[in-house]
Amino acid sequence: MTTWNFIEATQSAWDTLMVGGSAIDAVETGCHVCEELQCDNSVGFGNHPDENGETTLDAMIMDGDTFNVGAVAGLRRIKNAVGVARKVLDNTDHSMLSGDLATAFAVQMGFKEESLSSNESTEIYNEWKSADCQPNFWENVTPNSTASCGPYSPLRSQSNEAKPAIEFGGNSNHDTIGIIAMDENGKMAVGTSTNGAKYKIPGRVGDSPIPGAGAYVDAKIGAAVATGNGDIMLRFLPTFSAVEFLRQGYQPELAAEMAINRIKVVEPLFSGAVIVVSSHGQVGVACNGLEWGFTYVTAENGTITQMQMFCEEDAKPSKASIYYQSIAVAIIFMVSLNINKAYFLYIRLFRN
Ligand code: ASP
Repeated sequence: MTTWNFIEATQSAWDTLMVGGSAIDAVETGCHVCEELQCDNSVGFGNHPDENGETTLDAMIMDGDTFNVGAVAGLRRIKNAVGVARKVLDNTDHSMLSGDLATAFAVQMGFKEESLSSNESTEIYNEWKSADCQPNFWENVTPNSTASCGPYSPLRSQSNEAKPAIEFGGNSNHDTIGIIAMDENGKMAVGTSTNGAKYKIPGRVGDSPIPGAGAYVDAKIGAAVATGNGDIMLRFLPTFSAVEFLRQGYQPELAAEMAINRIKVVEPLFSGAVIVVSSHGQVGVACNGLEWGFTYVTAENGTITQMQMFCEEDAKPSKASIYYQSIAVAIIFMVSLNINKAYFLYIRLFRN
């Protein structure tokens, strides 16, 4: 299973299993296909520049039998982040390498060092600069981060002014690939790859390379992957808690919902989604705050299916839609002068 609409990645992960590859091989291949395709501009090189205009990458692979993890965080100048994560898994006793020193490791392992910028990332960065570096992730700093670029210094006292949250929920600042794979022997692995948050403060690491945050697996129990606002999600370890809920006997659907709800209680507006697969292959998915809902892809017996769901609160009509619905009802009523008819029209138009 794969987050978002990453059909090619899911297909390639499936194909890897079909030629005898392991679950780990499948997640690596799937994530790498997305890195090369620059899926949704959110995976791989050439997009989501940080405040210096640089694209950096986070990736992870976790083995569901051994609980071994290979991860890279803030990887610079190497395109194949998940490949480097695999080398951390296979060729070291460590679990995560970060930044420039992860790059040095990658070069030693034979990866090519090259710029991760593209014309697009340069353009996005220049536009952001000329818009006074808006939006950004700073708070309680001077000069005022809602109106001007840095360099910033900390304010002496914390400002009480509420800062509008940077848009993570729209379609432009997320879409990490997270894959759950199970091979024919029931071995499970998970993987993630992302270029993280657009305009991030250099050095920022999201949830995706953190075991239990971006992904987690215990092959005897099940696996989970997450996508969304990593700065919030990593504080709650949603994929770890989803797998633990499975262990306690909850069905995957409920485990996913409970993992999301734990975040929602504290951060009701956060945007994100969790996919859960039990060791028996049952699936559960839950999301919150994703305006256009959440898309995910399943590969079952070779059939690749794209699924779409809406997050619970998205079903609730906004104030604007209630306003327009009321006007529509009034017009229908005036035209027909028939209450019953207006009511049934209303039901048909807005409640299906
Ligand atoms: N979780 C990723 C991050 O915060 C982004 C995303 O999946 O939307 O880096």
